[in-house]
Amino acid sequence: MKKLLSLAFASMPFAVFAHGGHSHFDPNSVVHYLGTPEHALPAFAVAAIAGWLLFRRRRKVEA
Ligand SMILES: [Zn+2]
Repeated sequence: MKKLLSLAFASMPFAVFAHGGHSHFDPNSVVHYLGTPEHALPAFAVAAIAGWLLFRRRRKVEA
């Protein structure tokens, strides 16, 4: 769980601070983060890694 939290906190600054007008969405909206690949891809990557870690952990507990 510590690894998961560390990963989540380590990835947040990239999503929060990378700004200036680089898309046609309002940079302060959620749509901007979900609609631009430079924000959406890292977010989905972190979610996929977190899901994989949770899946692995759950399988270890069941075994
Ligand atoms: Zn942006």
